[in-house]
Amino acid sequence: MSSLAFTVLFVTFLLISLLVRFWLASRHIRHIQAHRAAVPPQFVGKIPLEAHQKAADYSVAKTKFALFIVILNAATLIGFTLMGGLQWLSESALFIFGPGYRYQLALVLAFALISGLIELPFDYFRQFVLEARFGFNRMSPRLFFTDLAKSTVISLSLGLGLVWVTIVLMEQSGDLWWLYAWILWCSFQMLMLVLVPLFIAPLFNKFQPLEDENLRTRIENLMQRVGFKASGLFVMDGSRRSAHGNAYFSGFGAAKRIVFFDTLLERLAPHEIEAVLAHELGHFKLKHIVKRIVVMFAASLAFLAVLGYLKNQTWFYTGLGVEPMMGASNDAMALILFALVLPVFSFLFSPLTSLSSRKHEFEADAFAAQHTNSQDLVSALVKLYEDNASTLTPDPLHSAFYDSHPPATVRINKLLAAG
Ligand SMILES: [Zn+2]
Repeated sequence: MSSLAFTVLFVTFLLISLLVRFWLASRHIRHIQAHRAAVPPQFVGKIPLEAHQKAADYSVAKTKFALFIVILNAATLIGFTLMGGLQWLSESALFIFGPGYRYQLALVLAFALISGLIELPFDYFRQFVLEARFGFNRMSPRLFFTDLAKSTVISLSLGLGLVWVTIVLMEQSGDLWWLYAWILWCSFQMLMLVLVPLFIAPLFNKFQPLEDENLRTRIENLMQRVGFKASGLFVMDGSRRSAHGNAYFSGFGAAKRIVFFDTLLERLAPHEIEAVLAHELGHFKLKHIVKRIVVMFAASLAFLAVLGYLKNQTWFYTGLGVEPMMGASNDAMALILFALVLPVFSFLFSPLTSLSSRKHEFEADAFAAQHTNSQDLVSALVKLYEDNASTLTPDPLHSAFYDSHPPATVRINKLLAAG
């Protein structure tokens, strides 16, 4: 391929993805606004008009903000690539460090820090303007910056270590380096599944054993009925940061734990919490989590194999505005370019991931309906939709493209039919 052909291909995919995103977002906003005046029939008497309209306004505001971020990301992407940002960074790092591992790491570090700095004001705006306007923010600016400092230190120490070993593999382990890098990456992911709940999550939140006797007994009975063993039930102080509620599993093998956000426990009755947990256990028992890991590992093997090919093609660099160095390693640059352009090419596949995720959600709902009362799950979902101000009337096409969860009406109709 010539470098010009690759530039044209890259720009074409970028433009297509922008057009699709704008088209879907405008449909979504129009659809929500057209249904803003009345609560959908299934929810009349369950969700007040005021809450429905708050959800409509929140969804529209989030969609507009997301579009703004899309433009910002596209501009950053073009700035780094075709406008010569990465070339300039690379020359500066080379000037300071000379060719070698220090240059490679400096390039990755500079790229990561600049990207992070560009995103920072928008993250701040999301939390303290957008979320705050709808009453969801519970963070102080101080906590925001403490979190930022902690997560920067953690991701730099783990991330740079991972990148350094990857670059060493790229340079020293021959043509099959991508296979070794894949094994490294998968092992790292598995290790994180154990390390995150035990050491990293506690740096950000307090986890306390669930104390409510009545609820404990209910949950333990449920786990016994469906044959699930967890090494602990915990309550997390999610309310420190946000009013959104949730429940999740974390850990792996014997280290599995169930975590409830305190915001969820405050809002739902014990039988509703049981139904929500039954849904989560459904994901586990139906092997959704294992399937997702397998798909992720398979996809990353394919991506790394592609990178193994691309890294030796001159057009891959020149087509993206970078002059590859002769007689020195371009491995860090190859990693950065690949991370930048992969989402542009994989965007059009996102409906497939969403589709598979929604299928899993239906299956987990059916599992919950089988092991608990489906009415309880319905009433829990209605409360969660209301509390999280999730729109009840998404545009069907927007939802089909992006949503990991089925639209509220479809999901609840299915549950009511099952019960
Ligand atoms: Zn689910």
